[in-house]
Amino acid sequence: MDLSYILNELGEDRAAYFNAVAPPIIQTSNFACKTVADMRFMLQHEAEVDFYSRGNNPTVDILEKKLAALEGTEHAIAFGSGMGAVAAAVLSQVKAGDHVVCVNRPYIGTNKLMRYFLPRFGVEVTMVDGTQAANFAQATKENTTLYYLESPNSFTFELQDIAQIVDIARERNICTVIDNSFATPLLQNPAAMGVDLVVHSATKYIGGHSDVMGGIVCGSRERINRIFAAEYLTLGAVLSPHDAWLLLRGLRTLPLRMERVAKTTRQVVAFLQRREEVAEVLWPFLPEHPQYRLARKQLRNNTGQFTVRLQTESLAEVERFCDSLQHFLMAASWGGHESLIYPAAAAYMEGKFRSSLPFTLIRFYIGLEDPEYLIRDLEQAFARMKE
Ligand SMILES: *Cc1c(COP(=O)(O)O)cnc(C)c1O
Repeated sequence: MDLSYILNELGEDRAAYFNAVAPPIIQTSNFACKTVADMRFMLQHEAEVDFYSRGNNPTVDILEKKLAALEGTEHAIAFGSGMGAVAAAVLSQVKAGDHVVCVNRPYIGTNKLMRYFLPRFGVEVTMVDGTQAANFAQATKENTTLYYLESPNSFTFELQDIAQIVDIARERNICTVIDNSFATPLLQNPAAMGVDLVVHSATKYIGGHSDVMGGIVCGSRERINRIFAAEYLTLGAVLSPHDAWLLLRGLRTLPLRMERVAKTTRQVVAFLQRREEVAEVLWPFLPEHPQYRLARKQLRNNTGQFTVRLQTESLAEVERFCDSLQHFLMAASWGGHESLIYPAAAAYMEGKFRSSLPFTLIRFYIGLEDPEYLIRDLEQAFARMKE
């Protein structure tokens, strides 16, 4: 299917709504039935029909169709946040007494789900270094039902060899779930490598404008319908029609934004590598990175996230550098129009460092600004850092 067809036409039926070019926001909680027989049919086919908006809604459906097509899966289901999607995908694969193998250092909310939430319900979790596929095999037990991946993972961007881990999982009849938010469906398609469920925080690149939250799970019709009937309907983390509309609007320009972000990021990283204040850039797209070849194999291009380790022993210098930036905003998230930093030093609280990462790490996201504008900002912040 052509990318242009997916983004501009798939799932849209303009004749059904006055030939409007932009789809309508069907802002309704429920849909009326004409007869008892109609209603009976609706109840029996809730996964396929519009009956109640904590179920299906036509505006949300358009988004789901496009994202399933982009990920190359049969079906997709949208959630009100990325964590709504992660939690539903994970919960759909476990019950009390089961065991999960999860990659080290996933997204912070996923980490909480794995370490503190699942154990409350009798699900045991082993976290492993995902750079060696064999670690998944080694950690597997009789009762393992799920391998959870995030490649590259958050903050330090280590990769997992997706195809290798899928092979290990399939031999053992274990379900694989991956968080693909980093790459977007344009740059990496884990379902093509055999992953069962692909999850995104649509809040990031898919929305792309820092004004909406959403999540998506892509997979086979059977797996998605099972999530619909259980986690989706009962936990209720639904996406509103208006937010689906904003995500659709963001999606139209996703390829343009990703291309621009990739190019600017390469320029900013090249600048940072030449600075003596920078000890290291953690970014799998650098030829000297130990996973460079895997990155080139699994991902079609680079994105805008990377992490810098500053060359200093001084927390005050790290803070002065961060506080001096004028155009990079200091905020959570990424994937919007605006460049961001997220300093690991923010985890230093009440005289204690509450992170396993060095305080000298700063995660960057490069947005849609001009590269020169960002580089000038970095130059002046480096000058202030040493003052
Ligand atoms: C932000 C993020 C999430 C969570 O998404 P929300 O939309 O914030 O709930 C999950 N995974 C990754 C990799 C993220 O960056």
